[in-house]
Amino acid sequence: MAATAPAAPVSDAAGIRAVTEAVRRVVPDEGVISDRTRLRTYECDGLAHHRVTPALVVIPEDAEQLAAVVRACAEHRVPYVARGSGTGLSGGALPHAEGVLVVTSRMRAITEVRRADQRAVVEPGVINLDVTRAATPEGYYFAPDPSSQQICSIGGNVAENSGGAHCLKYGFTAHHVLSADFVAPDGEHVTLGTTAPDAPGYDLLGAVIGSEGTLGVVTSVTVKLTRLPQEVRTLLVGFPSTDQAGAATSAIIATGIVPAAIEMMDELAIEAAEAATACGYPDGAGAVLVIELDGSVHDVEAEFDDVERLCGEHGSFEQRLATDPVDRALIWKGRKSAFAAVGRISPDYIVQDGVIPRTALGEVLGEIAELSRSSGVRVANVFHAGDGNLHPLVLFDDSVEGAGEAAEKVSGAILDLCIKHGGSITGEHGVGTDKAKYMPRMYSDDDLDTMQLVRCAFDPHGISNPGKLFPTPRLCGEVPGRHKGAHPLQEAGLAEVF
Ligand SMILES: Cc1cc2nc3c(=O)[nH]c(=O)nc-3n(C[C@H](O)[C@H](O)[C@H](O)COP(=O)(O)OP(=O)(O)OC[C@H]3O[C@@H](n4cnc5c(N)ncnc54)[C@H](O)[C@@H]3O)c2cc1C
Repeated sequence: MAATAPAAPVSDAAGIRAVTEAVRRVVPDEGVISDRTRLRTYECDGLAHHRVTPALVVIPEDAEQLAAVVRACAEHRVPYVARGSGTGLSGGALPHAEGVLVVTSRMRAITEVRRADQRAVVEPGVINLDVTRAATPEGYYFAPDPSSQQICSIGGNVAENSGGAHCLKYGFTAHHVLSADFVAPDGEHVTLGTTAPDAPGYDLLGAVIGSEGTLGVVTSVTVKLTRLPQEVRTLLVGFPSTDQAGAATSAIIATGIVPAAIEMMDELAIEAAEAATACGYPDGAGAVLVIELDGSVHDVEAEFDDVERLCGEHGSFEQRLATDPVDRALIWKGRKSAFAAVGRISPDYIVQDGVIPRTALGEVLGEIAELSRSSGVRVANVFHAGDGNLHPLVLFDDSVEGAGEAAEKVSGAILDLCIKHGGSITGEHGVGTDKAKYMPRMYSDDDLDTMQLVRCAFDPHGISNPGKLFPTPRLCGEVPGRHKGAHPLQEAGLAEVF
């Protein structure tokens, strides 16, 4: 990767023409889209109110073709954006109007499933759930389980460091990736990480996981597989209020039990899920918890007794144990369909994603309720209660003048609450286009400048997913305005501006 750079050039029609010609020499016709109508298919990800039509879409068949696309972009200084399945909720895969969208949907090979060392090697476009499907006959599964797991790609999971209901016990994507092949923004193909434990040197794989496609494009991932548990029990518990459900969650974790999942939904979210999936959640509940325990039969039995007791002590009025896999799937369907289900009770909504310390759950939910009351904007809450990852769904009707702005305001105020309570502006959906403006609420200018130095080290010309993650794009070589002289990190000999 180069370390020196002039200011990033602006892509122009000649650049795109040159890249198109270069790409057509290596990628078959069906993988190169330049027709305006077809390009519009790719104009947004899951954050559908942000739309940009890309100048060119390329769907390579393999890592060689993908690297050639990036090399052509590098040569002509044309920006590119990687896209997996386009389910991202923060606009990370939003195209660049003068750039190339590189889609991995034809790179879906599961190259290896190795039971002996509990790992699989997969291409970036492989669907998350397909890894589990391939590993199950061997007695294993892929633990990170975003609710979108039936459609989202492993490349997208790596780029977003995605989580899911079972990450409370098993950790996020970062905990399940051993190494990745990666095309750097100059088109060089490198392997990051190692399958051996504790490799010396900088953790560059760690830098790439969660970098939202701003450091390059992942072309192959070696993931860890997790042994299927001997026993799984899923309990649906109804509470009169979110306060009581939150207190039960804290009490369970305080005993030392780490359930595979503890998910919470409030009254409005329950209403939506019930309308969409008839999932049989308890009537009249102010909140439900979906608690899953897994492990050996002995451990699960012992923990289950404690969980039932603690829920009872914190005011639960109904507890239903899933009777079989079909019943378990129905309980989970209510939870996993919750985002889409909210469309049943509101024409428009914002899916927010923030994190707070679990112990602040009750207080923050109270403050969100107060925000909702004072603004008149309804908020449904669905979240990974076990790890304090909130997903408030801010409801509005875009046909009502000012409703969208009011919802945006409430949504931003919720993030301020998360920061105030020591949390973060995103738990798993990423920053992307949507939350770049909130980064300065969480980080100082110096923090952001330091992150930019990392970005510049990988991508000195700023062509890899530009405009995402950071509030104002600073170019490599551009000394930030506020620092008239050297940056404090430079003065300390800890960093240099390229
Ligand atoms: C209904 C629903 C439920 C969801 N639930 C969850 C959840 O529980 N947990 C969670 O974490 N997320 C969730 N998400 C968000 C989303 O599914 C995840 O962020 C997912 O990992 C995105 O994968 P994707 O393939 O769709 O990526 P895309 O949306 O295509 O891209 C996401 C980002 O990754 C980058 N990218 C994609 N592929 C590559 C690659 N090969 N190399 C480098 N960068 C790449 C893109 O540039 C972009 O910045 C949900 C989304 C929906 C719609």
